[in-house]
Amino acid sequence: MEIKEIKALKILNANSNFTVEVIINSENGQFRGSSPAGESNSKYEVSQFSNGIDQEISSFNTYLKKLVGKAINSLEDIFNIEKEIPKEFIGGPSLSLSYALIYALSSDLKKEPYELFGKKNKVIPVCKMIGGGMHASGLGMDIQEILVTTIADNSIESINSTLKVYKKVKELLENKTDGFMGGVDPEGGFISGLDNYESIKTVREAIEQIIKENGMDIRLGLDFAASTFYKNGKYLYKRPIYGKKEVDRGEQIDLTKKLADEFDIFYVEDPVDETLAEDYGEVLKLLSNSIIVGDDLTATTPERLEKVHEDINSTLIKPNQVGLMYKVKEYSELADKFKIDKVVSHRSEETSIPIIADLATGLNAKYLKVGINRGERIEKINRLIELN
Ligand code: PEP
Ligand code: MG
Repeated sequence: MEIKEIKALKILNANSNFTVEVIINSENGQFRGSSPAGESNSKYEVSQFSNGIDQEISSFNTYLKKLVGKAINSLEDIFNIEKEIPKEFIGGPSLSLSYALIYALSSDLKKEPYELFGKKNKVIPVCKMIGGGMHASGLGMDIQEILVTTIADNSIESINSTLKVYKKVKELLENKTDGFMGGVDPEGGFISGLDNYESIKTVREAIEQIIKENGMDIRLGLDFAASTFYKNGKYLYKRPIYGKKEVDRGEQIDLTKKLADEFDIFYVEDPVDETLAEDYGEVLKLLSNSIIVGDDLTATTPERLEKVHEDINSTLIKPNQVGLMYKVKEYSELADKFKIDKVVSHRSEETSIPIIADLATGLNAKYLKVGINRGERIEKINRLIELN
């Protein structure tokens, strides 16, 4: 296919902040790509707009003119464009361009977008129940996310049971907290006034009730996003957890183990600060029945995974952390080489395109981390249903 027209423009993401969208016209129609942003970012991820969004979109439009008339016939052609893109555009602009190109190319080849990356594969969602940390603007728990996932034969079965837990969590929060009005964070996790411990207990209760009613295998998860409350060698909790508000490195590892044992926590993301790979390794040794997931630690960056792969057994893949799809593919292959399970993930400030569901499917990821409420998340869930 040939790029006939191409432009970048400023659009809103689902958290009412601006991002970039790229629109391509080819002989097959019009194709759009847009990039998300994170509220809690890793120090190892690329900046989305290194020169400020307005300046960057303006100079990106000048650059995009060079691509008019270019023929794109394979994923390699997209990767070659990425390899030549000026450094200043790596981030939001480069990823939006690649996403638009992926949609345009797959349409031209009469393929689904996931087919450009690999075969169809069963993907299980990991969904947020309660939000805290930066996602709750400091109003909720310190732990950023309480999550639910399932052991299931297919994604529809998994979505059904996850949805049941989500609705049960809402019911329990309505009964437990006076001020709860059903409000959610940008990823669809409820924001409650409960502290970390009581919030986790509530999701555990909801899981138990649904397991009892339906006999499904439902698992509990946490994304601590611990770097967001690690200051000068201490983890600072706003309200005490196991009687403590200030916790040192060793105590944070013990606390993770204690929570995992007490609440049977299967999925453990970023339990310690992103710079402390060896502490992830300690958690991995202690929790042999859990998956220990690197997100801020690894930032979808192959060089990071090379360094820290022995300290985790799972990793998030967030394409905008690295901004280039050829790097995402390289990262995914490296994870396979190290036998690290893959979790393709949304960002807190998503756009409405469902492409991460295709990426999880084609990159042979075990999980898709995504919200189960709010339109932009439902786009991804519905795409998983379509691909089931
Ligand atoms: C996360 O930390 O896993 C997450 C999805 O949030 P953010 O996009 O804010 O990094
Ligand atoms: Mg995370």
